[in-house]
Amino acid sequence: MKKLLSAFNTRVGLLSFLVFFVWAKSMLAYFGVFNLRGVGPAEFLLMIINPIGFTATCFALLLFIRRTSLFYLATLVLGIGANFLLYLNVLYYREFSDFITIDTMTGGAGMFQHGFDFGSVPVHLMDWLYWIDLVVIIVLLIAKKMKFDQRPVGAKRAFTFFSMGLALFGLNFWFGDFNKNQLIMRRAQSDKTYVVRYLGLGPWILTDGYYTNLANTQRKDASKESLEEIQKYIASNRYLAPNMKMYGIAKNRNVIEIHLESFQQALIDLKIKGTDGKEHVVTPFLNSIYHSNSTYSFSNFFNQVGQGKTSDAENLLETSTFGLPAGSLFAKYGSTQTFQAMPAILNQTDGYSSAVFHGNVGAFYNRLNTYKQMGYQNFFDQSFFDNSASNMSPWGIKDKLLFRDSVPMLEQMQQPFYAKYLTVTNHLTYTMDDEDKDPNFATVDSGNKLVDGYFETAHYLDQAVEQFYAYLKKSGLYDKSIIVLYGDHYGISGSDNKAFAPYVGYDADTFNNYDNTMLQRTPFMIDVPGRTDGHIIDTYVGQVDVMPTLEHLMGIDTSKYVQFGQDMFASGRQDFVALRNGGFVTPTITLPTLNSRYYYDTQTGLQIENLTPEQETYVKETKQKVADLLAASDKLNNQNLLRFYTPTGFTPVDAKDYSYTVKDTEKRLKKENEDLSAKSNSLLSQNQGKSTLPDYTTDIPEVKKGEDEVKVKD
Ligand code: MN
Repeated sequence: MKKLLSAFNTRVGLLSFLVFFVWAKSMLAYFGVFNLRGVGPAEFLLMIINPIGFTATCFALLLFIRRTSLFYLATLVLGIGANFLLYLNVLYYREFSDFITIDTMTGGAGMFQHGFDFGSVPVHLMDWLYWIDLVVIIVLLIAKKMKFDQRPVGAKRAFTFFSMGLALFGLNFWFGDFNKNQLIMRRAQSDKTYVVRYLGLGPWILTDGYYTNLANTQRKDASKESLEEIQKYIASNRYLAPNMKMYGIAKNRNVIEIHLESFQQALIDLKIKGTDGKEHVVTPFLNSIYHSNSTYSFSNFFNQVGQGKTSDAENLLETSTFGLPAGSLFAKYGSTQTFQAMPAILNQTDGYSSAVFHGNVGAFYNRLNTYKQMGYQNFFDQSFFDNSASNMSPWGIKDKLLFRDSVPMLEQMQQPFYAKYLTVTNHLTYTMDDEDKDPNFATVDSGNKLVDGYFETAHYLDQAVEQFYAYLKKSGLYDKSIIVLYGDHYGISGSDNKAFAPYVGYDADTFNNYDNTMLQRTPFMIDVPGRTDGHIIDTYVGQVDVMPTLEHLMGIDTSKYVQFGQDMFASGRQDFVALRNGGFVTPTITLPTLNSRYYYDTQTGLQIENLTPEQETYVKETKQKVADLLAASDKLNNQNLLRFYTPTGFTPVDAKDYSYTVKDTEKRLKKENEDLSAKSNSLLSQNQGKSTLPDYTTDIPEVKKGEDEVKVKD
């Protein structure tokens, strides 16, 4: 003990202890509090080592200080600072399932003023563990049990320690980047759980600080004039009057949006020859919706996402603006951005309630903050579901369980509602537990695990949607709703396309940028029960067009809103689909990316060797139109220009009005149903308080085993 204590008496010894304590406490937080689920041993290892390098580098800097009093003061300040960063995150995470950002600390997102109930700060009994080391050191110093080390270590030795720390951090960074295929730099801009998982809390707060500062600089000089220019641009180039044959056909219906994760249009109507020698239809149920006469299906619907992937798709659909050229808008701006988004517009025009159901943690893509800015009333993330290991696919609650276990919440929502389901099972790695696999389905043996798995998880998703549909019909919700199904982005990409190509009608040997662009099509279907004129529409459209299309179906005038999409049913559409990379697809010519060497004939797929003078003019003009469109959207979002404009009759959303904690949500829903009593429109009230869950038939192994009660977390 004495020997151990004497180590405290040297500067290097003290700092080593502090680094060790920061590491130990980080482990306590990572595994005890934060819901950081590593995928595989490499991620697990990264989580264990990531606090060391960064912390050691920071503490090693102190060794450059020569003056004794200054050294100990700085050590104490840094030690307490590191502890605060960690412990505040612990408290914050317990309440919000999210990490602190600069905006949440400075109150930019309105978290600490409201919604954070100081009376119920989630302090736990064992939390003294986070402070005990510092308390002991301070006590030892005061009691003079610990001696001040008067000898500076010298610049050379200090530099050695600093370099060692930095090397360790660098190694950590390199390994993380390597592990995620150079994704760290990109992921840093799109998702904080990645940064924390791979690099730790310190690097996260620095990254966040950098981007917050960048955003503030960009926004400082923004002006109302810029917004007015964009409004003019939209009025003369983008806004289209609705097609009156379609206008209002879905008025006051519930809107159920099913986000088909990583689902490509190429899967629709696809048959594969399985390893059992038989032919299998990959997604029979989605095919039947695609061809149903109550569904308006689009065969040339392109995803327009950038690096923000899933979150970009959401942003495109909820706001009819593009994601950013780099990073995720949700992550970068979501906590402070002014939106005039779907849930708020539907709520304010027709009294819609709103909710998102999602199997992953709420912190992912900063959804917890972004959805509040968008005016979502409810966000049922993983914390509302039973997330025991057998219920999870790598990216969250298994889809079949997500749909089924959402029923007790869905049926409490006032109608009409706008409910979005973000599925997760059909997501990269495309792996599933054996018990979830359909025994009647056999996938291919392509020699590429992702491709083989992709067909299996897509088939699983198809079944999940089928079971949910059966419930919607049985419970009566179907006829009162429209169901919107869309794919967010590709599932297979890059070199894996060579293995994928032959199954979806392309040639692996000649697979080129044109083929890749065509594989960027994802499903888009609007099922309007009761209609019989549904059909497959070949118009070239994109995700940015969804919002005005839906609004018009619901009888909402869009002329006053700032939206870049064009109603898919309207006439006079601009004939190009802009890709986020600056490329485009028109009915005649495709440019895969802004700087592609070749143009392609959209219909034949052939490379155009020499453009005719007319084509030359056409592509030049189209390129310019795409650039103008993306530039206008980027300006609006980067400078947060909507804060300068409130459409007539629209009340700006106040994030402080929303709380997504399980406790608050359950209380609110119950109160809503009680307060409205006889006037309550929820399915549950219409059923005299009797749950519709028994209407749900499913083949989920966990449920079949006899666990009939939905296990919803306390
Ligand atoms: Mn996605």
